[in-house]
Amino acid sequence: MATQSHLETKTPTHKKPIADIRVTHRLPGQNSLATGNDRHESECLACPACDLVFDVAGLRHRETARCSRCGHFLTGYRADELNRVMAFTVSALILLLLACSFPFLEFRASGLESLMTLPQTAFELYRNGMPYLAFLVAAFIIIIPATVLLLVLLLIGALMMQYHHDGLRLIGRLIFTLQSWSMVDVFFIGVLVSLVKIAQMATIHMGISFWAYAGFSILFILALSNLDRFQCWRRIEALSES
Ligand SMILES: [Zn+2]
Repeated sequence: MATQSHLETKTPTHKKPIADIRVTHRLPGQNSLATGNDRHESECLACPACDLVFDVAGLRHRETARCSRCGHFLTGYRADELNRVMAFTVSALILLLLACSFPFLEFRASGLESLMTLPQTAFELYRNGMPYLAFLVAAFIIIIPATVLLLVLLLIGALMMQYHHDGLRLIGRLIFTLQSWSMVDVFFIGVLVSLVKIAQMATIHMGISFWAYAGFSILFILALSNLDRFQCWRRIEALSES
């Protein structure tokens, strides 16, 4: 197990036993970590910021753990995590499909009218002699987010159906590597800022795609923020051992 071997290499350098976690969110009437859920085996996790090792096996539904030394977020446990991520992922993919199929923005100025779809934002850059920039824009706002969502769909589907495959580890690595290269929120904030400028020069009409992409941005963030990295690897590990 990758987590346990990581623990074995980290523990001697700290010369500290596995420490207690600081639970930051506990539901009313829940006081004990030790009797929290039915996962009795120790589940060790090293703080990504300061390397202090924790046993996070006692977390219950909707509880999160932070490092007691530096306050860094460690993990959060939700019993319905897979259902939530699946719902957000499927909804986000549907909205992305809508966002790519309908007009994004419509401009009207001095009797001239211009219509732009989401894929055209990248294509126009290519047409104006900036192929690399066009590829990067298309990758950051459409290709990478869509790839990440499809990989999440595969992973969560496999975990929900208890279907073990050696490729699940690769899918997990790809998801957590690629998600930092997705610029969905950055692009949308950039569009909003530029709209303020353009609104002074032309009449702007937001198309269906604009609102679909706004919804997609929110659902994309929700899907990935609900996919807890530690809990995800714990589930993959448990599936491979079953
Ligand atoms: Zn820490």
